Amino acid sequence: MDSTGPLTGALLFWSHFWNKACILMGRLIIISNRLPFSLDREGDKLSIRQSSGGLVSAIKSYFESNTNKDQLSEKLWMGVADFPQEDWEQAVASHAFRQDFGIIPLYVDKDLYDNYYNGFSNSVLWPLFHYFSSLVEYESRFFDAYVRVNQQFADTLAPLLQPDDQVWIHDYQLMLLPHLLRQKKQDATIGFFLHIPFPSYEIFRLLPTEWKKSLLQGVMGADLIGFHTYDYVQHFLQSVKMLLGVESYFHNLQYQDRLVRIDLFPIGIDYNKFYQAASDPEVLDMCNKIRNNLEDKKIIFSVDRLDYTKGLSSRLNGFEYFLDRYPEWREKMVFILNIVPSRSSIPAYLERKKMIEEKIGTINGRFSTISWQPVIYRYNHLSFKELIALYQAADVALITPLRDGMNLVAKEYVASCASGRGVLILSELAGAASELSEAILVNPTDTADVASSITRALAMPLYEQRNRLALMQRRLQEYDVIKWVNDFMDQLTQVKQEQKKQQVKVLDDKALTTIRRHYLNAKNRCILLDYDGTLVPFTRLPSEASPDNAVRDMLSRLTSDARNHVIVISGRDLSSLDRWLGAMPLTLVAEHGASFKMRNGTWQQLVSVSDLWKDEIRRIMQLFVIRCAGSFIEEKTNTIAWHYRNTQTGLGFSRSRELLNTLSQLIQNTTLQVIDGNKVVEVRIAGFDKGATALKIVNEQDPDFVLCIGDDTTDEDMFKALEGEAYTIKVNNGASAAQYTILSQQQVLPLLNKLIAPLAEPQVQPLN
Ligand code: UDP
Repeated sequence: MDSTGPLTGALLFWSHFWNKACILMGRLIIISNRLPFSLDREGDKLSIRQSSGGLVSAIKSYFESNTNKDQLSEKLWMGVADFPQEDWEQAVASHAFRQDFGIIPLYVDKDLYDNYYNGFSNSVLWPLFHYFSSLVEYESRFFDAYVRVNQQFADTLAPLLQPDDQVWIHDYQLMLLPHLLRQKKQDATIGFFLHIPFPSYEIFRLLPTEWKKSLLQGVMGADLIGFHTYDYVQHFLQSVKMLLGVESYFHNLQYQDRLVRIDLFPIGIDYNKFYQAASDPEVLDMCNKIRNNLEDKKIIFSVDRLDYTKGLSSRLNGFEYFLDRYPEWREKMVFILNIVPSRSSIPAYLERKKMIEEKIGTINGRFSTISWQPVIYRYNHLSFKELIALYQAADVALITPLRDGMNLVAKEYVASCASGRGVLILSELAGAASELSEAILVNPTDTADVASSITRALAMPLYEQRNRLALMQRRLQEYDVIKWVNDFMDQLTQVKQEQKKQQVKVLDDKALTTIRRHYLNAKNRCILLDYDGTLVPFTRLPSEASPDNAVRDMLSRLTSDARNHVIVISGRDLSSLDRWLGAMPLTLVAEHGASFKMRNGTWQQLVSVSDLWKDEIRRIMQLFVIRCAGSFIEEKTNTIAWHYRNTQTGLGFSRSRELLNTLSQLIQNTTLQVIDGNKVVEVRIAGFDKGATALKIVNEQDPDFVLCIGDDTTDEDMFKALEGEAYTIKVNNGASAAQYTILSQQQVLPLLNKLIAPLAEPQVQPLN
């Protein structure tokens, strides 16, 4: 089906209602799998039905709030329409529905959608990311459909994008979209948020290689990637490191010449809406009716979508154990268990429903009396007011998912306890547990723990309930859904600004002339040069990289000028540097700063510890040498390195990920550090790097001109440390903290030649 037909008309229609008087700052385009509403047809009549769920209520609360009106020129929502295109056209033509955001509906073929949504999204990603790996259905047609629907989103959106637009893509159904959109619009501003857990690497790696790499590359097309918790951020970073070979620093990654930021944004709720609804007369009336019907019995309440991740069977086991173990509570309480229908076209869901209903039957059969039934079970959707009335009526909310990205019900319950009465029992495996630490946290599969938590909750004194609720309520009020959206959007703007700042410029004639002028006028210069990949090209074996005559000649010419202090700053071992360059009046820094020799001085060790630590590392690296032909170990005084430059491409990289993983775990809580370098994995004693060493030397010299050239990850430390003090130049293209870049190592000596050429020389010539 055509996906763009009614689009233009629709946008015109909806934008009509947007307040044009606001200060315009680009459009916000929300993209989610589904649109936030549906159309119902009865004969000729169409009516709009608003969708429920966390994302929809979060974004709608933001849209309805006044806080964004000064910032956005327009708000649009794109998603798959679950109604026919003709109905949408009729709705647009009749001006029947008004919303204060524009709509971009996407029409997807039914079978394709089924394989994409019920297939890849909900039978692969959903179970795997919630740690139900045995439920994953590895069907290639599912993945193909997932690629095609994500592509359809990109194809539809790309032609509509304007330069100031901010695109915010939501959730696991659209993990490929950031990359697909980036391919079409290099400069687009794209945020991505995952509303479900991101699993540990050990779980994520279960996916076939093509799938898992595509998913990561897909998400990495965004500028900002958000998760609910710190754990999910760490898991994602670990997978990116292991599968794409990209290292992070302070939640930032340099990926394909772009800065990408990964951070946590625990989604909030519309706190005031829930808190205030608690005093709505209609809600109070409903709440009183529930309580009166149940006389003076305590009420335990839970509400969840029908989903195996919600831990309903374990919860019922825990409840049954509670009735067995604490008989004094029988007939004094009831458990209202509300299940909301969900994904009923997936067989696994219907099977669960049957199991749960059987279990409820068993419990009620075992414990009911003529006048009392322990579980009141309902399988239905609740209206907002009904939901709040139940939250209010409940003495205890029992929310025990086996895994949950966040769990909004827990937050909503706390916000709705306006009277200060109520106890939350919450699974420690829900994302919300990291913010709601005053809840009674339980392991959802531990029936004894669940049972004892229920008694504790039922017996909790009112003052303690009030204290716990107050602390949680304050936190939820402070970081509500509006703050969540604003926080994400602010960070997205910041990342874009940093990307602009970071754009490394190719060193052109104009810049070179400026540097040269400064050089020629300076009286006290520091010139910091990396060795491998900068002064000399990479060789098969490190020992083969001795300086040739051209390098020696250049260093002699540089050092013969008394105003120059030349520093060769390298990861090389002391003895190689000393053998090759020790006779020249240079400052030499070996092993990234672990040892150094000031010009005309003697070698000094910054680190003096026994090197017994190397034994264990060496043993592991030797195993990798055997498993990866062509790789070898290089030992230096303070570092030990495994090189894979000469191995089969692909194999070397993949083994290096394994080695990194093994070593990172081994050195936890030690003073060692693993570095993922250019075709080398290196372990060294932490506490020194090229950045700190370069800065120390420069500060001691107090120069009026500083130039720093390098090519590797470790040189980035220098570029950052010398920011604002030096001209920094990165060899080889790629994202860098350096100011300038030159395209290859072969350009380094010509560049230095031009720099020191006498003033009389005419115009500076281009580098190549
Ligand atoms: N909810 C709903 N209809 C209902 C009952 C609950 O829309 O009949 C809402 C509830 O208020 C909450 C959301 O559904 O905002 C459930 O979010 P949660 O994060 O707890 O679980 P999810 O269903 O997203 O896995």
